[in-house]
Amino acid sequence: MKKYSILLTALLAGCATGTQAPIAPLTTAPAEVDYRGTTSRWMENGAAAVEARASERLNKRRAKNVILFVGDGMSVTTLTAGRIFEGQLAGHSGEENLLSFEHFPNTALVKTYNVNSQVADSAGTASALNTGTKTEMGVINTAPTHTRGVCKDYMKDAPKPIAFYAEQIGMSTGVVSTARLTHATPAAVYAHSADRAWENDMWLAALSEEAKENGCPDIASQILGKMDGNGLEVALGGGALAMLPVGVGEGVRTDGRNIAEEWVASSPSARYVTNKTELDAIDISSTERLLGLFTADHMEFAGMRTENQPELADLTETAIKMLSKNKKGYYLMVEAGRIDHAHHGSAANLALNDTVALSKAVARALELVDLKDTLIIVTADHSHTLTMAGYPKRGNPILGLVSEPGMADGEHVMALDGKPYTTLGYQNGPNAAGVLVTPDPSGDHDIPPTITAQERETLTEEQVLALTYRQQSAIPLHSETHGGEDVAAHAIGPWSHLVRGTIEQNEIFHIMDHALKLRKRAAKK
Ligand SMILES: [Zn+2]
Repeated sequence: MKKYSILLTALLAGCATGTQAPIAPLTTAPAEVDYRGTTSRWMENGAAAVEARASERLNKRRAKNVILFVGDGMSVTTLTAGRIFEGQLAGHSGEENLLSFEHFPNTALVKTYNVNSQVADSAGTASALNTGTKTEMGVINTAPTHTRGVCKDYMKDAPKPIAFYAEQIGMSTGVVSTARLTHATPAAVYAHSADRAWENDMWLAALSEEAKENGCPDIASQILGKMDGNGLEVALGGGALAMLPVGVGEGVRTDGRNIAEEWVASSPSARYVTNKTELDAIDISSTERLLGLFTADHMEFAGMRTENQPELADLTETAIKMLSKNKKGYYLMVEAGRIDHAHHGSAANLALNDTVALSKAVARALELVDLKDTLIIVTADHSHTLTMAGYPKRGNPILGLVSEPGMADGEHVMALDGKPYTTLGYQNGPNAAGVLVTPDPSGDHDIPPTITAQERETLTEEQVLALTYRQQSAIPLHSETHGGEDVAAHAIGPWSHLVRGTIEQNEIFHIMDHALKLRKRAAKK
């Protein structure tokens, strides 16, 4: 373990800056200097990496805490492009960089399909991660046989989310997301719903007469639930609109309930915050339950974050500090929810910025936890259609136009139509040539609308490097779709070696359960 700890210490020191590899990186200088390395450096670095792995010992201690990070829509291509982007932001060539969690010793490929769909949505996948059971698309924690949108019997044979077992044995639980806290991924931590769209009573009533008649609860109201214990200790993210009544802020609730006020009333030491100043001012030692709603809708993209909005790393830090007060341990799920939304708008720059924000949040978590007793898993719920292609030279700006090895900077490869093209593109989406497409306004908030030309545009480097540039696609759609290929899971801490091979997504729950011995301990209660 000792050798490994030394490696880990070096590795985590690297994580904090987010740009250093665990062993001497092949490129510490800008791309034009020594980007090839030497034979001896490649040989030494390769051998040292293998030696470090060969001397690892497995940690089979029972985990006290589990943190599950979910990059929504963080495909493997997003990881590769994201690590290059992060490296290039630090002035390096980029390819040699690793995101903080890519230093973790254990990795698996994860099959993401839902029981009725080859290409998954976030509700079915979040259910698989949180309950150990796959479901249909669009439902939150129902049985695999239950049909989306049907309220009746939605709890029949419904599996229990991991946070409910944790609450049952006195652990603390928390959820953090840059999306609305009632959005599919965070909802799966604390709620059951036959439809992910039933986020608040107004949307539920508008969407389903049957749900209203049969009294199905909306998702927002369930954030106050006891969950077989004393309920969530921490919930931080966006989505105040679903929690507040009409007339209060941008609240849309028509039942008059103010969930934030009810949260505060639930305990004398429960608190509610709405911006970074208030979050930073919280006295963690005297706060038992903390609700933070920082925006009416989703929080901003990381690349467009406003000043008094906390970043994902800040939210993660507060959540860990709050939850680790409990000696019995905790379960925390942290979602980088907007990688997905940026991809739906085919806006790769925004997606990569949110990926880097997740990398930073994981690095912050590593500074705060003891890996001897804390299992950390970083995964995605599903993929997207982002591709990285062409033959760009080493160090070519990852968001830029393709310039091949041997070409001068500013010189670009031309496609058959005589126009340059970017390294990153999407299989489908709003910026496709041939048909006029207006991007789906509900799918990608904050990205300026673009209406594409009938012909492919002649792109300039300046244009494609812009924060809100929409990459070109092959198939014209209002909103780019999810992808169906496997995603990655990276893990460190007790029993993280169970994260290996090609696994079904619901197995992630069972790995967390095994590490915590959770259901066994809950059964004794
Ligand atoms: Zn999506």
